[in-house]
Amino acid sequence: MNACGLPARGEPTSNVPNDSTILMIASEATPFAKTGGLADVIGALSATLAARGERVAVLMPRYRGMSVRGMPLDYQDLRVWLGPASYTSNVHRAVERNVTYYLVDCPTLYDREGLYGNTAGDYPDNHIRFAVLSRVALTLVRHVVRPAVIHCHDWQAALVPIYLRTMFASDPTFMGIPVVLTIHNLGYQGLFPREALGELGLDNRLFTPDCLEFFDKVNLLKGGILASDAVTTVSPTYAREIQTPELGFGLDGVLRVRGDAVTGILNGVDYTQWDPAADTRIAARYSVNDLGGKRAAKADLLAAFGLPPDLDRPVIGMVSRLAGQKGFDLIEEAAEELMAEDVAFVVLGIGDPKYQTLLEALRAAHPEKAGVRIAYDDVLAHKIEAGADMFLMPSLYEPCGLNQIYSLRYGTVPIVRATGGLDDTIDGGTGFKFVEYTGEALMSAVRAALEAYRDRERWTAMMTAGMRKDFSWAASAARYAGLYRRLSGGAA
Ligand code: ADP
Repeated sequence: MNACGLPARGEPTSNVPNDSTILMIASEATPFAKTGGLADVIGALSATLAARGERVAVLMPRYRGMSVRGMPLDYQDLRVWLGPASYTSNVHRAVERNVTYYLVDCPTLYDREGLYGNTAGDYPDNHIRFAVLSRVALTLVRHVVRPAVIHCHDWQAALVPIYLRTMFASDPTFMGIPVVLTIHNLGYQGLFPREALGELGLDNRLFTPDCLEFFDKVNLLKGGILASDAVTTVSPTYAREIQTPELGFGLDGVLRVRGDAVTGILNGVDYTQWDPAADTRIAARYSVNDLGGKRAAKADLLAAFGLPPDLDRPVIGMVSRLAGQKGFDLIEEAAEELMAEDVAFVVLGIGDPKYQTLLEALRAAHPEKAGVRIAYDDVLAHKIEAGADMFLMPSLYEPCGLNQIYSLRYGTVPIVRATGGLDDTIDGGTGFKFVEYTGEALMSAVRAALEAYRDRERWTAMMTAGMRKDFSWAASAARYAGLYRRLSGGAA
């Protein structure tokens, strides 16, 4: 045991051959399955690394609705034991943008209504579901890929480094393969009752505060943070914020202990998907050199929401998971003041029923001004990015945030709370920021934006300044590649 309560991993006795693959393990990735930004990041980061000439593989579950027709079966009847239970999977291989995807097909675990839960809440066996994913990953490393580095994403993959420091600590197969853990959102930690340890095949002795215990629960992300060789998160500001009690979600102390290993690498944007010059989901194409199409996109958006076709009235848009993190309490606080302004407000989102009710009530009270769609709808998300004049993200915290960066490219001026990646990506020349987490601060930023909107010249200058910003993945992928190379001693 060392300071963190987990055993150290064995060192390789000789140079272990590898095929320099970067093996990512994640719970979602575009184009296969998506509930949020994580999927966009996995899809785009892996493709960008591949475009740089890296060999990249991504392992994820095969969820309901994901077809594996015509995909080769790379591993049949792969059985993993977790304590007394065993689970059998088939692993299919797909290639997407030069990235190899391993899709783990275990219908009893993954062929379900939602990725993580259903209307009744999170699935109670999520620890088992993602432990199996992690163990399948390690079986593939034993038999199919020899990665130079393993890159795990969020708590769902945090068991990989934990297993490598426990049941496989002295297994030569895995020695010398560094593990990177990326935290996409510290608000989701993988908390389970104490009994989960045995179900995961882990020793009860790991249930201590310097290891996996967290206020009488098992915390998988905490274990992952302690057990990985490097920990990254998705913006430099968020990397600092999570080491403070305010935004550390109880893990700030653990993150400070690992402080030297914690870095922030800003997410990029996949401009093959999010660019108004090529976007076929919107009514008309436009670009920084020819903004004409944006008006047609606005008319189309207003029609989609059944709002009056008033093209001179500013439209404020939101596309978001309906979760407390995203600042809907501020929307509630400021709703009536916002509706008193000469604006249209359109929201696309799904999630917490409390916020769904709030938004539905707002629409019912202001049918001429508020448009609400409770759904997950990729096409409508693009239409909002293109057709709105302003994009609102009043998040309580935001690890990186993608929509505000998409908005920049669509000439849709962001109004954001200055936190995490929102603070890192928006400046006074491209958007409006507020600091205090209050409805009042939000409204003063909105009013500043509305005032700027009335000055067409100033507004167009802001739109075009945002459209010219380049947040493509190339720079961020290069930083990940540098990290892999440092950790693997040049093997990656
Ligand atoms: P998070 O990952 O916290 O949800 P991000 O801003 O990083 O937030 O990423 C959100 C991604 O999910 C964006 O691509 C956004 O367009 C998409 N998204 C969120 N909610 C919806 C929805 N209801 N319909 C369509 N796309 C959505």
